[in-house]
Amino acid sequence: MRTRISWVALVTLAILSTGGGAIAEGYVIHAGRLIDGVGDEPRREMSILVENGKITGVESGYRESPSGEILDLRDKTVLPGLMDMHVHLQSELDPPESYSARFYLNSADYALISTVYAERTLMAGFTTVRDLGSRDVEAGVALRKAINAGRLVGPRIFMAGKSLATTGGHADPTNGIRSNLRGDPGPKEGVVNGPVEAFKAVRQRYKDHSDLIKLTATGGVLSLAKSGENPQFTDAELEAIVAAAKDYNFSVAVHAHGAEGMKRAIRAGVDSIEHGSYMDAEAMRLMKKKGTWFVPTLMAGKWVTGELFDELPEVVKPKAAAIGPVIAENFSKAWAEGVKIAFGTDSGVSPHGLNAQEFALMVEQGMPEMAAIQSATINAATLLRQADELGSIEVGKIADIIAVSGDPLSDISVLEEVGFVMKAGAIYKR
Ligand SMILES: [Zn+2]
Repeated sequence: MRTRISWVALVTLAILSTGGGAIAEGYVIHAGRLIDGVGDEPRREMSILVENGKITGVESGYRESPSGEILDLRDKTVLPGLMDMHVHLQSELDPPESYSARFYLNSADYALISTVYAERTLMAGFTTVRDLGSRDVEAGVALRKAINAGRLVGPRIFMAGKSLATTGGHADPTNGIRSNLRGDPGPKEGVVNGPVEAFKAVRQRYKDHSDLIKLTATGGVLSLAKSGENPQFTDAELEAIVAAAKDYNFSVAVHAHGAEGMKRAIRAGVDSIEHGSYMDAEAMRLMKKKGTWFVPTLMAGKWVTGELFDELPEVVKPKAAAIGPVIAENFSKAWAEGVKIAFGTDSGVSPHGLNAQEFALMVEQGMPEMAAIQSATINAATLLRQADELGSIEVGKIADIIAVSGDPLSDISVLEEVGFVMKAGAIYKR
């Protein structure tokens, strides 16, 4: 009876705080093992109370539920919804076609393709993603809107829109195209040269309804350009982007392989370094000093050197062969050095829905299982500036909750088979 009283009291509080009305549907999750995303140790035999999409209680023992449904996950491990800080929801690498598709796909094609990848991502247990670069921004915005409105099934999306590059840089959308078709893309298309254009490009992203800024500070592997690592922005351009981003409360995510371009970006005050392949000791020291996050994307390194390699264009192959393997090595060093790490896969290079395979790669490189899980929960939420609402199973947070069979702390690969998915209190998989 005691348990019943406290539950009723909680429901009453919830009703009062939302202004009355009928008792909303709630759940009590009985979790055999709970990894809450912030604690160092799992807890056994816990109850998680969910009401109106939020977590309203986390209590020891299996509580009764007077009004809501009991979800029996007593033989499962329950965790916060996973968060992938680097995906591209509009594509999946399938060379050589990936390189020609941009000439014949329309906005509607991208919109429809992305609905499939978004659903796969959520069903794999990833309730939140950062989409770091859309081919078609309008389609990306439409996808985010449809998911938020509950019309489509997918993760909560924080999107960058079009990535920023300099002329001929990694995210210049006209790289590799015959010269009479290239035109001269500018800030509107995400290509900037000089601080004034950098400001304009950030403001354009605001107008486009982006949530954050992505820029490509060095060459990249998959673009049709020679260098995968040269610096491609000046200090002045990077400082302008960071200053403009601040005005609009945007964080700045930076694609970087080479050390020089990476260091310029870190010094300018960006929020995260993506890939970080040739991160050297000085870059690591600077990241620790500035509080810069590292999003390693080990899966991208694995896939471009793996089964996709033979089909890559000739200009891309040497870059893939050189950079692919060093991503993992440098991740080990950065982890050992104490650089802050947030989970990211670059899915879209690897197939969508396999995102959780990144965990095993991180653990293979020396990261403890709990740290790997926290990189995809509370760390990711902190990088997203959403740690008040997301990233852990604690009272007051949005009810993004998943469950797996087995113990991810002894075998991290069990996260590749997520059997239960709740996002904002709604069940998508059970
Ligand atoms: Zn990427």
